[in-house]
Amino acid sequence: MKVLVPVKRVVDYNVKVRVKSDQTGVDIANVKMSMNPFDEIAVEEATRLKEKGVATEIVAVSCGVAQSQETLRTAMAIGADRGILVQTDAELQPLAVAKLLKALVDKEQPQLVILGKQAIDDDANQTGQMLAALLDWPQATFASKVEVNGDKVQVTREVDGGLETVALTLPAIITTDLRLNEPRYVTLPNIMKAKKKQLDTVSPEDLGVDVAPRLKTLKVTEPPARKAGIMVPDVATLVDKLKNEAKVV
Ligand code: AMP
Repeated sequence: MKVLVPVKRVVDYNVKVRVKSDQTGVDIANVKMSMNPFDEIAVEEATRLKEKGVATEIVAVSCGVAQSQETLRTAMAIGADRGILVQTDAELQPLAVAKLLKALVDKEQPQLVILGKQAIDDDANQTGQMLAALLDWPQATFASKVEVNGDKVQVTREVDGGLETVALTLPAIITTDLRLNEPRYVTLPNIMKAKKKQLDTVSPEDLGVDVAPRLKTLKVTEPPARKAGIMVPDVATLVDKLKNEAKVV
């Protein structure tokens, strides 16, 4: 079974992002970039499926600028067998990414696509769902457990009231939630091995996909600054402030 894993290059989750002064977006100049954390979980899950003998090949895909190659190399150091970079400097919105992935699925014919549930930069939570719609494949989003049995896959999902278990027939789309697994540390020997793995580059034009944005960002603003806290001398003052100033009790 071939597994396709889309991985996005995003601002590292430890970086405190700054909004550009002209409010057109977030400043990513000289900022540490990493693989989207949910995509690391997706690569880890695919790697575990391969280690169990369920998956035979893992293909990592990234759409974006040339530096996304680094993200693909990380995916290959975790366990992906090869990588495909769909290289473009254009702004890519989820529908464009879903169309690019659909074109690659048509070409590569995987039985399973495992994506992150959301990219931590745009927080869109759309790409997996759109890809499932474009392919007309079943989808299980927010997976916290994945079990493949023959041509069926059973997925446990974290929903508000607890856990929901669904069964899908392959080929299918899965998106990962935080508790699906804990990605392994990437070791130096595996980083070295990943450098030798196959990495192909294609363009959106090669795939016949128009990636023109469908949405226009009007403005991006910082969240309001939090007010400084105060020390209260005793409980009576605290209760008084909660009642009369904050009006929460
Ligand atoms: P989003 O819908 O933008 O929140 O992204 C959901 C998931 O789609 C991510 O976790 C990735 O698995 C995948 N994805 C989104 N954008 C890209 C991209 N540019 N390249 C590769 N995968 C992507």
